[in-house]
Amino acid sequence: MSSSTLAHMETNDLDAFFMPFTANRQFKKDPRLVVGAEGMYFRTPDGRQVIDASAGLWCVNAGHCHPKIVEAVQKQVAELDFGPTFQMGHPKAFELASRIGALAPGDLDTVFFANSGSEAVDTALKIAIAYHRARGDGQRYRLIGRERGYHGVGFGGTAVGGIKNNRKAWGHMLVGVDHIRHTHDLSQMAFSRGLPEWGAHLADDLERLCELHDPSTIAACIVEPVAGSTGVLPPPKGYLKRLREICDRHGILLIFDEVITGFGRTGTAFASETFGVVPDMMTLAKGMTNATVPSSAVVMRRGIYDAFMNGPEWMIDLAHGYTYSAHPLAVAAGLATMDVYQEEGLFQRAADLAPYFEDAIHSLKGLPNVIDIRNFGMMAAVEVSPREGAHPTARSYDLFLDCWQNGVYTRFAGETLAFSPPLIADRGHVDRIFETVAAALKRVA
Ligand code: PLP
Repeated sequence: MSSSTLAHMETNDLDAFFMPFTANRQFKKDPRLVVGAEGMYFRTPDGRQVIDASAGLWCVNAGHCHPKIVEAVQKQVAELDFGPTFQMGHPKAFELASRIGALAPGDLDTVFFANSGSEAVDTALKIAIAYHRARGDGQRYRLIGRERGYHGVGFGGTAVGGIKNNRKAWGHMLVGVDHIRHTHDLSQMAFSRGLPEWGAHLADDLERLCELHDPSTIAACIVEPVAGSTGVLPPPKGYLKRLREICDRHGILLIFDEVITGFGRTGTAFASETFGVVPDMMTLAKGMTNATVPSSAVVMRRGIYDAFMNGPEWMIDLAHGYTYSAHPLAVAAGLATMDVYQEEGLFQRAADLAPYFEDAIHSLKGLPNVIDIRNFGMMAAVEVSPREGAHPTARSYDLFLDCWQNGVYTRFAGETLAFSPPLIADRGHVDRIFETVAAALKRVA
């Protein structure tokens, strides 16, 4: 190793890492580092315990460094570090697919593995278009997303996503994409507890796009059952059912992006189960492996898989896949995670804690600058008014920072602070989180 390389390491320079979704220069001036984690807490280099009110990035549903999951991964890495899944296989991959298929609603029993939520989304969009083509319906190429939707950062997910800043440079690169309007309207639904009463009719915006584009050109419509990254937007009562009906009427595939809502966040395995609306495909990631090893999946109705099984048996059925699809470490983590969810009853635990969580966050109503509070299951958000003349995130960033300095890690996006603690949380954790947020709201002007 050259002396300059060594010197570089010794300085522990933060410069070389171009950090994702981060204000790099601001962060590097005053870094927030974590070096360890256990259960509900992160540990900082100076030994502070910080409660994780966001399950990392909505992903560590069973809590950090769960011993069962850690052990399964450690065992796996020594047994089979890598095994291809192109024209080859390893048994645990099939086992995890079966476990997820058994958990999924309706006839969604077939699973395609990827590595991240973004890859799962792009995979689902590609499968949707290829499915119609395989059935001789190749003119269906359009994809419909929703304003304020987040579907990751691949070209497909960026295009169907509805976040202005994320789309700015790249949103135009996929042709044939359009968006239905979002459902967030504070004049109608501020401080709703759970699902807003108003807004089911907004699903009819899909009919408007069918009229505009001709429904026979539309392959799929993708939405998050509860939008997460744009500040937790629970769907109006009846909205998702109406979307389902419109898709059925026009032969459009409905994709639920359950990357955040999957694996217990709404109090059941999937939001589709909570809402009683069965999509044609679901995208999953994050909680699937408790984020211990990156992994993701598309779960689809059996009929979608079957449509690809019509060519000669020797032929590759779908020209798509990732080197690390069903990576042995991810699969081991996934199987252990499924066991933990079941043995610890974490989905039910989330459902049981949700009313307490709801009361706790709604107790912030009336504090300075709070203009909305919303929640569903174990996800919730506080929206604050933007500071006059300042960047929209100026106040939410200061609140986030105040919480961090006082021992609570949360997420801020736009004008909101979002909360999605691990599902192992108890009432004491919930109290601690919202007491800290209340104090921050009183302190931060
Ligand atoms: N879809 C949704 C609904 C998400 O919330 C996210 C990430 O937060 C993604 C997709 C992208 O997942 P990843 O960051 O693993 O690519």
